[in-house]
Amino acid sequence: MSVQELAEISRFYGANPDYVIAGGGNTSFKDKDNLYIKASGTSLARAEPGDFVKMDRAALAKIWKKTYPSDPDARESAVLADMKAARVPGEEKKRPSVETLLHDILPFSFVVHTHPSLVNGLTCSQNGEEAAKELFKDDFIWIPSINPGYVLSKAVKDAMDKYRAEKGKAPGIIFLQNHGVFAGSDSVDGVKAVYKRIMETIGGRIKRQPRNCRPGPRFHFNHTLMKELISLAEKLNGSGPWFVRFLRNPEIKKFTASRGSFAPLSSAFTPDHIVYAGSDPFFADSPAGLEEALKAYMQKTGVFPKTIALKGIGVFGLASSDKAAKNAVELFNDAAKVAIYSESFGGPRFMPEDQIRFINNWEVERYRSSISR
Ligand SMILES: [Zn+2]
Repeated sequence: MSVQELAEISRFYGANPDYVIAGGGNTSFKDKDNLYIKASGTSLARAEPGDFVKMDRAALAKIWKKTYPSDPDARESAVLADMKAARVPGEEKKRPSVETLLHDILPFSFVVHTHPSLVNGLTCSQNGEEAAKELFKDDFIWIPSINPGYVLSKAVKDAMDKYRAEKGKAPGIIFLQNHGVFAGSDSVDGVKAVYKRIMETIGGRIKRQPRNCRPGPRFHFNHTLMKELISLAEKLNGSGPWFVRFLRNPEIKKFTASRGSFAPLSSAFTPDHIVYAGSDPFFADSPAGLEEALKAYMQKTGVFPKTIALKGIGVFGLASSDKAAKNAVELFNDAAKVAIYSESFGGPRFMPEDQIRFINNWEVERYRSSISR
């Protein structure tokens, strides 16, 4: 039973933090008539066959024939409505992943989309595309940084059509700049082979590995500072409860040594980093004067920061649930790894400012981040 196999391969990658952090990524299986895609808000690590939304592929195909409003918000909500309408009767309670259209156009039975730190070291780097050409020859498609949702799916569709017209086959790898990777095959073993090749090939080019850059066991609790941060959050951002997580490891120590060394982490690499850790990581030279610095930050960005980096101390994740605080530091730690891996490909490259703004305002991402809260 192939949806069973889909659940198995979803758990295989979902449970491995080298591939999936904080529930990012999604998977699908398709036959001629139906696409089974991970429902928004479900976890790959615990995927069961019932967690996938069964979609009518004929209804999804009609979306490409329609003309949508040019205003991004109006367009994305219209497309989302059409995607919801493409659910097979009985599936109305599940929300199809925002990447559903993209899964549907890839001509493979199984598609696994993830955001691995190692791969994003390539996709979030200055020379990523050239390096990919060298490493993967012409067996991949590279999609430049672009707003997610309909426009991303359309960009992949156009690139895929062009590739197939030129080469008479479909590439098993799609790199999305400042986002992640899609790998497809007609069998789960095929998908695993593609991923193995991706990870080994990129891994073989890494000049400097992140050192002990692990989140979980490296969380420590520094009570005085945490209490101070919580009272500041209450004062500046309203009622709690507030939860704090602390992150410090040898790499984070280096990045937080000074404002200058923090520069490679001072913006956002991918949509996941924005959703879980925020688009403007906050850095302060010392706990003294923190209140004024936070006020200035809030005036500039309009929000209280999800992460607070303190010089020489480490990074705190603050949120209204422990899960969200944990996700904030995990994604921050992931950004540190991405920045380090990117050094092997010319250095880090953040998402363009206008795309960061799009994600911050996008209803779909607000939905994802509300689930994480
Ligand atoms: Zn994604």
